[in-house]
Amino acid sequence: MGNIFNNKMIKPYLYLCDNIITEVNKEFLNFTGYTSVELLGKTLIEICHMLKINLLKLPQNISCKYLGYIFTKTLEVRDVTISFFDGGKINERKYTFSKRPNSKLNDKLIFVEQSFLDNISGTAVYSVPDLILLKANQKYIDLIDSNFEKYSDTLGRPIGEIVKDFVGSQAELIYNSIFSSQKSSYIKEIVFNNSKEEITYWRFNQTAIYENGKMKYIFEIVTEVTQRVFENQNLERKNKIINQQKQQLEEHNSQLVSILENLSEGVMFADNKGELIMVNSEAKRFIYQSGKGVTLGEALKDTKVFDMVGNEIPFENFPSVRALRGEIVKSVKIFVCHPHKEYFAEISSIPIYNSLGKLTMIVSCFHDITETINQSRKIEEQKKELEAIIENISDSIAIFDSKEQYTLLNKTSREMFFSSYDNMNNIGDGYKPSDFYDPYGDKIDPENIPARRVMRGEKFKNMRVTVKSPYKNLQLDISGTPIYDSKGKFTLGVLCSKDMTDYFKHEEIIRSRYEFLNRMVNTFDLPVLRLSNLDLLIVDINKKAFDIIELLKPEVKSMDELKNKKVEDLYENFKSSEYYKCINEVLKEKRIKYMNKKNVLLNGKQVYWNIVFEPMLEVNGEIREIIILIIDVTAEIESNMVMEKALKQQGEFLVNVSHELKTPLNIIFATAQLFNMYCESGSLDEKKDSIIKYIESIKQNSNRLSKIINNIVDLSKIEAGFFKLNLSNSNIVEVVEEIVVSVTDFTYSKGLNIIFDTDVEENIIACDTEKIERIVLNLISNAIKFSDIGDEIFVEVKKKNEFVEISVRDNGIGIKEEYLDMIFHRFKQVDKSLSRNAEGTGIGLSLVKSIVELHGGTIYVESEFGKGSKFTVKLPSIMVLHENMIYSSNVRSINENIRVELSDVYS
Ligand code: ADP
Repeated sequence: MGNIFNNKMIKPYLYLCDNIITEVNKEFLNFTGYTSVELLGKTLIEICHMLKINLLKLPQNISCKYLGYIFTKTLEVRDVTISFFDGGKINERKYTFSKRPNSKLNDKLIFVEQSFLDNISGTAVYSVPDLILLKANQKYIDLIDSNFEKYSDTLGRPIGEIVKDFVGSQAELIYNSIFSSQKSSYIKEIVFNNSKEEITYWRFNQTAIYENGKMKYIFEIVTEVTQRVFENQNLERKNKIINQQKQQLEEHNSQLVSILENLSEGVMFADNKGELIMVNSEAKRFIYQSGKGVTLGEALKDTKVFDMVGNEIPFENFPSVRALRGEIVKSVKIFVCHPHKEYFAEISSIPIYNSLGKLTMIVSCFHDITETINQSRKIEEQKKELEAIIENISDSIAIFDSKEQYTLLNKTSREMFFSSYDNMNNIGDGYKPSDFYDPYGDKIDPENIPARRVMRGEKFKNMRVTVKSPYKNLQLDISGTPIYDSKGKFTLGVLCSKDMTDYFKHEEIIRSRYEFLNRMVNTFDLPVLRLSNLDLLIVDINKKAFDIIELLKPEVKSMDELKNKKVEDLYENFKSSEYYKCINEVLKEKRIKYMNKKNVLLNGKQVYWNIVFEPMLEVNGEIREIIILIIDVTAEIESNMVMEKALKQQGEFLVNVSHELKTPLNIIFATAQLFNMYCESGSLDEKKDSIIKYIESIKQNSNRLSKIINNIVDLSKIEAGFFKLNLSNSNIVEVVEEIVVSVTDFTYSKGLNIIFDTDVEENIIACDTEKIERIVLNLISNAIKFSDIGDEIFVEVKKKNEFVEISVRDNGIGIKEEYLDMIFHRFKQVDKSLSRNAEGTGIGLSLVKSIVELHGGTIYVESEFGKGSKFTVKLPSIMVLHENMIYSSNVRSINENIRVELSDVYS
């Protein structure tokens, strides 16, 4: 095949026939570095690939030219113009390659050639404006996120094909800004997330290279600075921390200074020459001279220092001075005397060395411990006082540690438990020879003795224990307390024991007394009620008291029903009653109270009670119960009333009697005077008749006196039990009739008619005829006394079965009904104004009644006021075997008796 395209300037060319290279010229081989063997027979596509030309961009006709880049075998870029020539035949074509002037990129980038070779940074050159990669090093391909692995595959391709996701990326923006600004770009740190999603930092440097004033290339250097950035960031962080620390340090420093200044402790710094560097305000109080630069010697001039036993410490042994010599002086207590003050201080001084081991300064810290020392002295004194109290307290106090060793045993404790033992060190020493019993008499297990319980951490009070040792038996009340340290560990046990032996005995006695009282109350003859102090509940009630309650409250059926019941439930108005008031006083004053002569209406009858409220005290002096005792004093009160009444009557009687005695006495006395007068005047004979009359009067009044005196004497005899009857079996009819007959004349003289009547002629009964005479005369005397002239007196003797009735009836003034009961009472007279005959002592009927009763008989009266009275004496119709015929020495005749007995009515 001939060369049909001869030209003067031979340009590199390619000749293709049917798209297969059939010819290349020598210039082409030189230009590209390929051999003809490598090229001939290759297709156009293969050649484009080798030269890294875009096939589509190759000119297809002669009028087209391609201005672009091809790459030599050694991958060097060449700036070329490719022209198309038609070979004449349809299947023939020729491409010529014209080197453009200065087309060797390497020549233009000599200054950066080294950076391609170094392979330290990714280096690349892109064409402008289509950004085709013209040159790069492998580092660049490795660094960028490329679609290709091999460097050779990337050349000749636009950046959009090479860099993944270039479109819209930050890189595209950078290029666009370079194009628009026509300036190079330098970005110090740009952040990318790599394929592993790790944050990476890059430095991008795009340098625009111009040719003929036009941007021709962009030279790009990509350096990964992730590590550096990280290092920088770390550095920055560290710097920041250092700055913060510095700031903190400064703050701390100023805080430290202010803390030091405000410290309650004195702090003093001095340099190694003993010159003061810093003295805080507290230290200034103590140091005599405290200016900066002042030496210790000057500062402590005039200061005397003593140890705690009072020995003076010389200056060279002051703690600060010792620290200057390198000594560490810790917590030395000293007594300091300044010219104007004295105090106790605790001081520590330490030397401070620099890194070379040289003593640079000393620090002394001290604080005033005067208060502490004073307090500890006070505490010491109080401790001694307390120890003395514990030692001398009457309770036993024993303190032991966790190893069961006694740390304290007071005097009582030693005497109570251990007087018989020589060495008491351990709690076992005291307990081994002793047995412990609970209040029920059961032996206490050794593990449960008080000390062991405390050791187990138990706290207890008032544990009652009986301790039996070979030496003595004790009944104790023990309280135990464990003491723990701040970590909650048992450190000490305290046992406080009280000897209750006597107390328990006493308590036992009280208890048995109480039980005795319980039993006694129930058998007591007096009503007794026991109320508890608490709510005033009925604790117990005896039969007698229950009898009363039954009367007051019939609905209560049994004594048990009442027990533990409140009194107020039983007695509605209890709280407002005087009983409640009294009980409250007992509770308050804790002493016995009485309510005397309490008037109560019981079963419709007035009764009088003395009520005793007695408090029952516990051993501790508190009231346990109130015992209520009821003493029925009705009889006493009533007899007192009777007595009072009798005394009153007796008074009245004496008035009567004295009057009755005075009347006849006055008459007798006056008569005697008259006789005296007659004697003196010698007219005795002349007055003979009237004298006889006066003598009668004296006799009669003497009889009256005699009657009164007889009656009083007899009454007294009867009362004293001396009045005796002289009983004889006599015909009572005859006795009475004789009396009536004897007084008939007298009554007649009084204008009265006396009539005797009987239904039996004879009735022998045992009687004292003299006393029967007095009875009948007395009744007749009364009948005369209370009758009027012309009235009649009937005396009758009647036999009524085993009785004989003697009655004296008159139709005189009679007796009002209300007086009928009392006329037989001693000293009783019916209203005197109603008596026509005012004489009388009011003892006649009383005496009559007594004498009748001595005979075993009765007397009663029937009367109608204004119509008359009838007195009937009823005597038993019996006889005596042995008649008692004793006669009094001054036996009087019946007439004399009549005169005496009827002396009231004689005139
Ligand atoms: P005296 O000595 O005062 O008469 P008596 O005991 O004999 O005392 O009598 C007591 C009272 O009884 C008298 O004071 C009188 O009031 C009353 N009395 C006694 N008998 C009669 C009678 N037959 N008629 C009326 N009253 C009488």
